[in-house]
Amino acid sequence: MNQTKYVYDLNEGDASLKPLLGGKGANLAEMNRIGVPVPDAFTVTTQACVDTMNNNSEWPEGLREQVEAGLARLEERTGKTLGSVENPLLVSIRSGAVFSMPGMMDTILNLGISDETVGQVAKLADGNERFAWDCYRRFVQMYGEVVEGIEPHVFEDALTEAKEAKGVDNDTDLDAEDLKALTQKFKDLANEALGGHWTTDPKEQLMRAINAVFKSWLNPRAEVYRKSQGISRNLGTAVNVQQMVFGNRGETSATGVCFSRNPSTGEKELYGEFLTNAQGEDVVAGIRTPRDLAEMEAELPEAFHELLATMDKLELHNKDMQDMEFTIEDRKLYMLQTRNGKRTAAAAVKTAVDMVSEGLITKEEALLRINPSDLDALLHDAIDPHETATAIVKGLPASPGAAVGTLSFTADDAAERGKAGEKVILVRYETTPDDIHGVMVAQGVLTAHGGMTSHAAVVARGMGITCVAGAPGIKIDPKAETVTIGGQEYGKGDTLTLNGSTGEVFSGALALVPPKLDENFQQVGEWADAVRRLGVRANAENFEDASKARELGAEGIGLARTEHMFMAADRLPAVRKMILAENEEQRAAALAEILPMQQADFEGIFTAMKGLPVTVRLLDPPLHEFLPNIVDQSVLVKELELTGASEDVLAKERETLAQVKRLHEQNPMLGTRGCRLAMLYPSIPDMQARAIVKAALAVQEREGETVGVEIMIPLVAIAKELEVQRDIVVKAVEEELAAAGKSLDYTVGTMIEIPRAALTANEIAEHADFFSFGTNDLTQTGIGISRDDAEAGFLGHYVEDEVIAKNPFESIDQEGVGQLVQIGVEKGRSTKAELKTGVCGEHGGDPDSIEFFHKVGLNYVSCSPFRVPIARLAAARATL
Ligand code: PEP
Ligand code: MG
Repeated sequence: MNQTKYVYDLNEGDASLKPLLGGKGANLAEMNRIGVPVPDAFTVTTQACVDTMNNNSEWPEGLREQVEAGLARLEERTGKTLGSVENPLLVSIRSGAVFSMPGMMDTILNLGISDETVGQVAKLADGNERFAWDCYRRFVQMYGEVVEGIEPHVFEDALTEAKEAKGVDNDTDLDAEDLKALTQKFKDLANEALGGHWTTDPKEQLMRAINAVFKSWLNPRAEVYRKSQGISRNLGTAVNVQQMVFGNRGETSATGVCFSRNPSTGEKELYGEFLTNAQGEDVVAGIRTPRDLAEMEAELPEAFHELLATMDKLELHNKDMQDMEFTIEDRKLYMLQTRNGKRTAAAAVKTAVDMVSEGLITKEEALLRINPSDLDALLHDAIDPHETATAIVKGLPASPGAAVGTLSFTADDAAERGKAGEKVILVRYETTPDDIHGVMVAQGVLTAHGGMTSHAAVVARGMGITCVAGAPGIKIDPKAETVTIGGQEYGKGDTLTLNGSTGEVFSGALALVPPKLDENFQQVGEWADAVRRLGVRANAENFEDASKARELGAEGIGLARTEHMFMAADRLPAVRKMILAENEEQRAAALAEILPMQQADFEGIFTAMKGLPVTVRLLDPPLHEFLPNIVDQSVLVKELELTGASEDVLAKERETLAQVKRLHEQNPMLGTRGCRLAMLYPSIPDMQARAIVKAALAVQEREGETVGVEIMIPLVAIAKELEVQRDIVVKAVEEELAAAGKSLDYTVGTMIEIPRAALTANEIAEHADFFSFGTNDLTQTGIGISRDDAEAGFLGHYVEDEVIAKNPFESIDQEGVGQLVQIGVEKGRSTKAELKTGVCGEHGGDPDSIEFFHKVGLNYVSCSPFRVPIARLAAARATL
C-alpha cells in the first residue's frame, strides 16, 4: 500500500509546495534551492496535522516512522545526533501555516539539550558554559509551557527570584552557575507540576513537541485570528524541525528581524531590528527592546553586508516585499524565514507602484497586491495639524493613523467596551497574541515595551489599527488600572490621543482630520479605472459629500436619499405639516414651503457633480421617522391633563396624538414607505420632480453645465406603481420645462428592492429607463430579517456560530439575495436590452459583493464616498 508522504526533507521542497509545507516550510526549501544559507531541516506536512485532527488527535499510520526516518536523514546530513553525548543535534520545532499567522501558534527551541548533552553543547561553543545553560533553561521553560501546558508564571517567578537573589535586573546578568541552578529549579518545578512525569528522552520530546504544534493550530488566539482573516481551520499547520543555530553564543552572535522595505511607509530603506547574544523569541515577543538594524554594521560588518545582499536577492526572487528572520552564529549568517511582509495600506500602495516602475511586476499584478478593504486605512484620520499640544511621551510609530479613546487596561475590557461602541485605547505593558480580541476593536494600542516588529505592531498594522509601542518610561499598574506618564496618572475614564505615524501620545482628545491621498494612491486609482468595467458612483445628498466623492473618483451619484434632507431640524415642522395635512390644500401649502429647500439641496449636489449623472430618489421614509413618538406624545398629553394646561394647548396636542395613532403602523418598514406614500399623496412626487428640474436648470444657468438627471422611484413592487409614478413625474417635469422654455436630459427609473419587483422585472422594465438594486431592503425582505434589529439580535450569533458565513447586510448573500439581483437584471433586460442597472445598497462598497455584481453584469455600483476608492480597485480586480 502506498503511504501518504508526511515528511519532506529541506531539499525535497520548493515554493510550489506551500499548501503542503506551509508558508515557512516552502520558503525555507525555496531559499535553500536558490542558495541562501538556511539551517538544515525537515517539514511535517499540513496533511499530517489535518489527518491528526480528523483522527481524534491520534497520529495517522506511518507518521511516527516517517518523522523518525526524517530525523535519521537530518542526523546523517548534519553529522550530529539527537541526544548524542559527543555531537548532539539541537533542533527547533516551529509551526508554519499556509497563510502566515504571526505569533498565533507555538514554537520550541533548543530541543535535544539535556543533562547528558549540555556539557558537550558548551564545549562545542568554545567552552561557553553560560550559553549552554541559557539554552537549557530556555528549553525547559518553552517545552514545559508549550508541550506540557505548565503555567508560564511558574518559570517566570523562579527567574525573577533568581535575579532578585542576585540583585540584578537583566537575564543577561545571570552567569553560568546561576543558570545551571535555575535550570535545575525549572526542571524540579516542571516535574512537580507534572506529578513526576517530565519526559527526558529527546526523541520522545520531539514527538510530543510536533504534536503540541498540531494542537496549537486550534488554540483560542489562533481561532480568533483565523476568523478575523477568513482563514479556514481545515487547512492545518505544517511543522518545521530545523537544526538550531544560535544567536545567543556571545557578542559575535545575534538574531533579528528585517524587511526589504519599510512596511509602514513602503520606502525602500533599511528596516529591521536585532539583538546580540539573544534567541529569536527575544526580538519578536518584545521581551527585550531590540536595536535598530543599522547599528549592526559596526559590530558584525560581514554578516551585515551579506544580510543586505540576501534581502535584495529574496525580494527579487519573490517579487514582493520580504519579512525575514535571521540568526548570526559566531559571525555566520543564517536565514530562518522569509515571507511576503505584512504592510500598511500606504506601504502596499507605494511598494506596488514602485515595483511597477522598477520593472518587477506588471500594473495588473500591482492591483492584485493591494487588498481593496485595506485602503480604508489610508482614508483614516490624522491629528489636525493645527493642534499645538505637546506629546506627553513618544514611543515607536508602530502602526500609522490617529486614535482618540478612553483607556482600557485589559484586552477583555477593551473587547467588551469596544464592541459596545465605545472608543477605547488599549494600554498594555506589552501585548501578547492572547490580546488580539481587544486589539481588534480598539481605536488604538499603547504599549510600554516591545519593538516595531513585536506582535502588537504586526497585528495592529495588518488590521489598520493605530499603535504606539515601547513608549519609554510609562508605568502601568494593571491592578489599579492606571498608567503614569511623565508624573501624571491616567485612569480608566481618561482620554488619550495616539499618533501611530510618529509614536507621539497626547493627553486628552485632539481634533482629527481626514487624510490626504498621495500620488501613489492616485496612480493605483488610474490603473484600476483603466481595467474596470463597472462604473463607480457614490451615495450622497449634499454638496460636501458629493464633492468628496468626486475627489475620490466617483463618476456620479447613484443615490441621493431625499428623506435625509427632510430630516433637518428646520424642515421637520414643514414635513410634519405635509404628512399630517388633512386635505390637499393644507398639503399643498406645506409642500410649497418645502420646495425651495429641496431645490437648494439639489443645486448643491448638482453643482458638485456637474457633467455627471445624478440619481435622485424620491421620498422613502418609514412614516414614523417624521412623526412624534407615539409613547412620548401620549405621555405629553397625560402630563398636560394632570397639570391643567389650557384647553387650546391640550386640544392641539390631543389632535397630534390622534393623528399619530391614525398613522401608526406595526411594521413601518413594510408600511407606507417609498412609492406607496407617493401613491396616496401624488402632490409629493410632483413637488419633488419640480424642485429637481428647477435646480438642474438653475445650475445650468449658473455653471454653464448641469447633471444627467435620473429620477428614481423607491420601493416599487408592482409595475402599475411605477407606471403611475412615472406619469406624475414626467408631467411635472414637462410642465416645468415648458414654463421655463428649456430642455433637459432626464430619465425615470426605479429601485428594485422588493423580491416581487425582481421577479417581475420584465413588466417593471416597461416603465423604467434604469434599475438600481436596493440591496439593503432586498436583503431585509428577501431573507426576512429586519435591517434595524438583526445585528444586535440573532444575526450576530449566526455569524459567530458560522450558521452563515458573513453578515448579509455587509456582504451580499450571493446564493439567495444575489439570485434576486441576477433574475432582476435578466428579466429587466429581456424587456429592454440596454437597460442600465446599478446597485446602491451598502453592498456597493463591499469588495466581495462588487466582484459578484461584476459577474452579474451590472453597469455600476454606488457606495458611500469614502468607499469609492475601494470600489474602484475591487471593480478592477474583478476583471483580472
Ligand atoms: C436599499 O434599500 O438598499 C437602499 C439603498 O435604500 P435605503 O437604504 O435608503 O432603504
Ligand atoms: Mg431601500
